[in-house]
Amino acid sequence: MSSLDQFAQSKIDDLKGRNLYRAMAETLREDGIWVERGGRRLLSFSCNDYLNFTQHPAIKQAAQQAIEKYGAGSGASRLVTGNHPLYAELEARLAAVKQTEAACVFGSGYLANAGIIPVLAGPKDLVLADELAHACLFAGAQLSRGKVMTFRHNDLDHLRLLMTEHRGFYEHVLIVTDGVFSMDGDLAPLAELNEIANEFDAWLMSDDAHGLGVIGGGRGSSFNGNSHVPVPLQMGTLSKAIGAYGGYICASAPVIDLIRNRARTVIYSTGLPPSCVAASIAALDLIEREPAYAALPVQKALAFTRRAQLPDAQSPIVPVIIGAEEATLAASQMLADEGYLAAAIRPPTVPKGTARLRLTFTAQHPDDAIERLADIVRDKILVH
Ligand SMILES: *Cc1c(COP(=O)(O)O)cnc(C)c1O
Repeated sequence: MSSLDQFAQSKIDDLKGRNLYRAMAETLREDGIWVERGGRRLLSFSCNDYLNFTQHPAIKQAAQQAIEKYGAGSGASRLVTGNHPLYAELEARLAAVKQTEAACVFGSGYLANAGIIPVLAGPKDLVLADELAHACLFAGAQLSRGKVMTFRHNDLDHLRLLMTEHRGFYEHVLIVTDGVFSMDGDLAPLAELNEIANEFDAWLMSDDAHGLGVIGGGRGSSFNGNSHVPVPLQMGTLSKAIGAYGGYICASAPVIDLIRNRARTVIYSTGLPPSCVAASIAALDLIEREPAYAALPVQKALAFTRRAQLPDAQSPIVPVIIGAEEATLAASQMLADEGYLAAAIRPPTVPKGTARLRLTFTAQHPDDAIERLADIVRDKILVH
C-alpha cells in the first residue's frame, strides 16, 4: 500500500472505531417529502427543502426556461462573462426582501462565507463567533487571518465580556452568528447582538441559511416578531427553503461593491448556472405571494414538539438530542424501520456528547404522520 493510501485507510479505520464513519447513501427524492433509499420508501424528516420548492412545477419550469434561453452553465466568473442577465434581477429581489441597498449572489452559502469574511476582516481584526455557528463561518473566519474567538451559545453576557476585554486591541471586530442555528433550530437574539455591536463599533453578520423563506413571513430571522432588526450584513443560501442552489449577502451599496471587487470566491469561481438563478427568483415570487404557505414549516415543527413534549420549536429544525453516537444511530435505524428518514447527526458536526436526530419539517408533511412520529419519539426514544 502506498503511504497515501495507508494514511487514508488508517484515518478511516479510526473513524469506524469511534462510530463516526459516514457513508453517502444514494437517495432518490420522488417529491418534496418522500425518498427512496436502499429499496425502501421513507418519509423524510431530513431535507432542508422546507417549502418543497425543489420539486415545485413553476420553479422547475423557470429553471428549464432559463436553460433554454441562457444555457446549462454560465461559462465564466461573473467578473468576466458569467454575469448573465438573471443575476441583476435576483440581487434586486434579495435586497428588497432584506430591506438593504444591495445584494451579491455567490456560488453557494459556503462559498459566500468563505469569501465575505476575509473581505471584511484581516490580520489586525477580531472575529467573534457564536460557538455553534456553522462550519463555513469558521472557515471564512480562518481565511481572514484575523484573531478568531468564540462566545458561548447565544450568551450575550459572555459576548459583552469578551468585547470589553478585547475590543481595544483590534482595529475592526466582526460578530458572526447563525440567525437560525442549523443543528439546534433556535434563533439568535439578533436585536441584542446588534445593540452590542453598535455599542462597541463592531459589525454584525447573520447567516440566515435556515431563516429565509420560513421565518418572519419568509423574510428571515431579522424580521421575526414585530420589529425588524437592521443587521448590516445578512448572508444566506438559496439551497434550503429556496430549493435551488447558491448563496448571497445583503448589505449596503458600498459593502456590496467592495465584496464584488474583493471576495475571492466571487472573483475566482464560475457564476451559477442560469437555471439556479431563475429558480431562486421564481421561489421568491411564490414566498411573497403566499406568506401563509411560508409559515407552515414552523407550524408543523411546533405541532410536533408539543406532542412529543419537547421545548417549543422556533424554526423548522427540531433536535432530538440523544448523546451517544451508537444510540443515535440505533434510534435513526428504528425510525427507518417505522418508515421515517431521520438522519443521525454526530460530532464533529455537533459537540461531543450531543449526537442527535435532527428533524426538519416542511410545508407538505401530513399532520397524521407528524403525530405518529411524535408519539414514537416521545414513547420510544426520549424515555431512555
Ligand atoms: C447549509 C448552511 C450553509 C451552507 O450553505 P450551502 O448553500 O449549502 O453551501 C451555511 N450556513 C448555514 C447556517 C447552513 O446551514
